[in-house]
Amino acid sequence: MADNDKIIKCPACGCEMEKIFMPKAGVNLDVCTNGCGGIYFDNREFKEFDEPHEDISPLIELLKDKEFKSVDENETRYCPVCGSAMMKNYASAEKDVQVDECYSCGGKFLDYGEIKKIRSINSPYNIEKTKDIFKDLYENAGLELIEEKKRRNQKSKTIKYTVRILFAILIIVLALLFLIKLGYINKLFNF
Ligand SMILES: [Zn+2]
Ligand SMILES: [Zn+2]
Repeated sequence: MADNDKIIKCPACGCEMEKIFMPKAGVNLDVCTNGCGGIYFDNREFKEFDEPHEDISPLIELLKDKEFKSVDENETRYCPVCGSAMMKNYASAEKDVQVDECYSCGGKFLDYGEIKKIRSINSPYNIEKTKDIFKDLYENAGLELIEEKKRRNQKSKTIKYTVRILFAILIIVLALLFLIKLGYINKLFNF
């Protein structure tokens, strides 16, 4: 569904939402400026604003220095465009931001402050950080494997030496027994 052009009511607090034109993306957003500060995005609109390099300055300008009423984020909301019950979904793998989505028309509703959180999660810095965590995990696992190999080598070396020493002792004992049998030892002591 394309950009809706009717005045809609906020699915969280019921206030009339204000339309704000976003020139870079060329779409209107519906913002609850007189109520809870929530934002409604028509189908696909949200993709134009969820990354930090995408411009949301008109939105920030509109929302800044305002007090908004608090709303119960756990309540089921109804899509202001098509009336369907909206579903709650996590916007990130960290599961720290939950947004309301309309599966009928593709609309999305974000409570006040959620867009900033989502944009910071999607920032290149965060993506790099996640990569680093995986890199660390991988490298540490690699180092541990090397250590484990070293430990095993050390162990097998110790076993080898022990076997050699035991073998040498056995040879000496056998040689002594052989000499005793031949009588050499007796002769030695019976001068
Ligand atoms: Zn509202
Ligand atoms: Zn809808």
